Amino acid sequence: MLRPNSTIGILGGGQLGRMLALAAARLGFKCHVFAPSPDAPAFEVVHRVTCADYGDNAALDRFAEDVDVITFEFENVPAPTATFLSARKPVLPDPQILATTQDRLSEKNFVAGLGIATARYAEVSSPQDLARSLATIDRPAVLKTRRFGYDGKGQIGIRDGSDHAAAWRAIGEQPAILEAFVAFEREVSIVAARGRDGRVECFDLVENEHRDHILKLSRVPADVSKSVANEAKRIAETIAAAFNYVGVLAVEMFVLPERGGVLVNEIAPRVHNSGHWTLDGATVSQFEQHIRAVAGWPLVKPLRHGKVEMINLLGSEVEDFTKWLTVEGASLHLYGKATVRPGRKMGHVTRVMPEGESKA
Ligand code: AMP
Repeated sequence: MLRPNSTIGILGGGQLGRMLALAAARLGFKCHVFAPSPDAPAFEVVHRVTCADYGDNAALDRFAEDVDVITFEFENVPAPTATFLSARKPVLPDPQILATTQDRLSEKNFVAGLGIATARYAEVSSPQDLARSLATIDRPAVLKTRRFGYDGKGQIGIRDGSDHAAAWRAIGEQPAILEAFVAFEREVSIVAARGRDGRVECFDLVENEHRDHILKLSRVPADVSKSVANEAKRIAETIAAAFNYVGVLAVEMFVLPERGGVLVNEIAPRVHNSGHWTLDGATVSQFEQHIRAVAGWPLVKPLRHGKVEMINLLGSEVEDFTKWLTVEGASLHLYGKATVRPGRKMGHVTRVMPEGESKA
């Protein structure tokens, strides 16, 4: 168990790293953020920073020397970086997990291997594979690159009559998976924390709305049956236990119409945008749970304050931030990013409302 005043190393300097560092500071920890970009939002809130490439072993060595434990805020930490650091200081969650979640095929195989349902999928390594897979996975389908896809990047829909060779070119002729298109009723995610002692605490199920594949709005609790909420929780617990996970992870799922079962879409081995509501909407935030877990502190069962919404401020929407300052129940979070780009996550707002009201 880490003592207050210990130093937590965070790989990655985006808004997730920034909010992790703020939560750590509240518990009396220091943070050292390692990120390659000089304008990393997390640099603004910590005293110790390393601005260096993830392949810079001398910088990694000094970083490891300075910290007591290391965690990360993004899932594309290069494997050699993780291996280098793990030999020097504990890295939590275990970076072995990244090898599974960085690749959509191994991620899907892992989830399916646990007996958890996903959309039907097939491995695609060539245009011939794609033509073959389209014979078994009917259109509409979605072709996704196996690696480095996020916020809808690296994926393309294949509909009736669309040219599969063009789709293959559109994703850059890279190793991919073909997935059946899911006519979902809603998209949900569950954010779960697992402590060093194996105890898992889930936040309430979140319902998510995307705009141009980017998360725009989260609502808690999700408008689903108890059985769907319980199934989602069981899935998160199963995945976290199977990874022997320490920290916070999120599992994104599709809720099916009628029968109402769920299909797992993706695992994020980190704190997640759909968990930002917990900053103001629960007695403990996802960021604090993560810090507690990596520090070896006990987790606590989160209690929700009411109905909660989280609205992402994307691109130029941030320019209207003042309008949120006087909205009852709203809390504004800005990430301190100097440059506005279309779709860029610049901040978010949480709105806590008494149960029974909704104002999105
Ligand atoms: P992903 O990058 O896999 O998280 O996908 C981004 C978004 O694309 C998801 O949140 C869904 O809205 C949509 N999407 C991804 N896969 C599918 C699918 N198989 N069927 C329907 N929609 C999908």
